[in-house]
Amino acid sequence: MENRLMAIISGFKNYVFPDKSIEEIAHKRAAICAVCPLAVTTMMKQLLPDDSIKEIEGLKCSECGCILSAKVRQAYESCPKNKW
Ligand code: SF4
Repeated sequence: MENRLMAIISGFKNYVFPDKSIEEIAHKRAAICAVCPLAVTTMMKQLLPDDSIKEIEGLKCSECGCILSAKVRQAYESCPKNKW
């Protein structure tokens, strides 16, 4: 299966069913995304709350278009700007 699709499926799976080791990685990535100018607000905050990583709740990456709560929780794609 294409990496992009796997990244989306895996990211949302890990968002719904958190894994301790993935959450640790996700927190480190999220700290970088939270101060990145390419992270932009979406209307997803209500639909996709992120209680464990509040700093990226409702944000997406304007470079790749990914919802950050899923993006930081997958292992198939890296940051499109090589920040993580
Ligand atoms: S994935 Fe990379 S480019 Fe996108 S918001 Fe996060 S740090 Fe910025």
